[in-house]
Amino acid sequence: MLKKKSHYDVIVIGAGPAGFASAIRCAQQGLKTACIDNWRNKKNQGRLGGSHLNTGGVASMTLLESAKLYHQLKHDIENHGIHVEGVNLDLPQMVQRKDKIIDQIGHKMADLFAHHKIDYIQAKAKLLNLRQVEIAAMDTAELSILDAEHIILSTGSSPIKLPYAPIDNEFIIDSMAALNLDVVPKKLAIIGAGVVGLELASIWNRLGAETILLEAQENFLSLLDQQVSGEAYRIYQDQGLDLRLGARVISAKKANKKVTVDYQDQDGTHSLRVDKLIVASGRKPNTSELAAPEANLLLDENGYIYVDGNCRTNLPGVYAIGDLTLLGPMLAHKGIEEGIFVADIIAGFHNPINYGNLPSVIYTEPEIAWVGQTEQALRATGEAIKIGIYPLTATIRALAMGKSEGMVKIIASAVNDKILGVHIIGTQASELIAEAVLAMEFSASSEDLARTIHARPTLSEAVHDAALALK
Ligand code: NAD
Repeated sequence: MLKKKSHYDVIVIGAGPAGFASAIRCAQQGLKTACIDNWRNKKNQGRLGGSHLNTGGVASMTLLESAKLYHQLKHDIENHGIHVEGVNLDLPQMVQRKDKIIDQIGHKMADLFAHHKIDYIQAKAKLLNLRQVEIAAMDTAELSILDAEHIILSTGSSPIKLPYAPIDNEFIIDSMAALNLDVVPKKLAIIGAGVVGLELASIWNRLGAETILLEAQENFLSLLDQQVSGEAYRIYQDQGLDLRLGARVISAKKANKKVTVDYQDQDGTHSLRVDKLIVASGRKPNTSELAAPEANLLLDENGYIYVDGNCRTNLPGVYAIGDLTLLGPMLAHKGIEEGIFVADIIAGFHNPINYGNLPSVIYTEPEIAWVGQTEQALRATGEAIKIGIYPLTATIRALAMGKSEGMVKIIASAVNDKILGVHIIGTQASELIAEAVLAMEFSASSEDLARTIHARPTLSEAVHDAALALK
């Protein structure tokens, strides 16, 4: 049955961080807004938040905090003169806590939708032509059509599947299942030492799994400032992570309740036997069933939606945001900013996003966070730069916390002192980077940072002291 329903100012398809933020902003701008999403939770109820909340960043962050606590109690607490006995891991309880936090956030998001009078439609949506959207109800075969003046596509991304390492959800698992294990694997391999692979390795290594990361690239975290990635490599290895670079997995098969993983490196082909294999080999945009062929939505060969600098697709009145486009990296906060930006454009305001000042974080322990350009990228363009580095071993607060690994590195123009990049590896780097982002957003010089008074003793003194060290 095909039913015609109401007309909206804006329809947002997808309620992950980008779509959710966009729908709220549209409503705040006085636009009549619907948001269509088909995510179901474990109890088969509609759930906002997308993969970031339910199986990605939030889920991972929650388990990482628990894993850090467990590891600290088990290994680092004696140093403080505190003797703890009988520390035991209850993994099902840890996973339950994660699920409870996700539930709380999901409910809060639904309350916010209700508060802003956004129509939350639990259905699978497909873009038709002429700004129409076909919606397929989740529990019935009913199809309806909605239309809107503006449509915002924000269906996010999902893990890339590798044909030679097929997911069986038991022994060979993806990054979502890797956050719901009920037993710590004795020996674990992960395909891909990208952000996802490293964050998962950080969780399971801390919970006691022997963890091997197989990474096809020779260069570790090649997008990062090379000094920071070198430091990260050393620290992760000291923590017991077995990082194998230039190691391309060519096959993975289940055999006798274990997984046999074959990989190639410059010395030839090798074989590993592990209890679990996690595939963390990248993500792809969820566009395969997003638009009907007659809609003529333009995608590239990898399924990314073509957009201009204002998130506009080739179809008038249709926008794409977040992981669906190549406009900036796949980061939740990038998607949120784009969601707000597009809602504002629809409401008649134009507040451009400064993609150059987008912070990135890898939530391992220590964390890695950065904004702006790397030393190697700046040197490659011949830019005259000066650099200031301050180690956390010289920062009182870090020493008091017993977390003095890492450093702050600031790069500024040698011509006008403008800050061009800040790279931090260390505890709470994700929080420390906010100051650098703000400084860069205000076009601050390194002298501005050096002259800004920082409380003592705090971790943020390392930022101040790195600014003083510039030469
Ligand atoms: P990624 O592309 O960063 O890393 C995947 C890695 O897998 C690559 O380095 C690749 O060389 C390797 N690989 C692929 N096939 C392989 C094979 N056969 N053998 C060995 N190695 C192989 O992808 P990701 O880590 O899955 O992350 C996906 C996206 O999600 C990224 O854009 C990331 O920034 C984003 N993300 C960000 C956060 C965060 O902000 N903290 C968290 C999670 C994901």
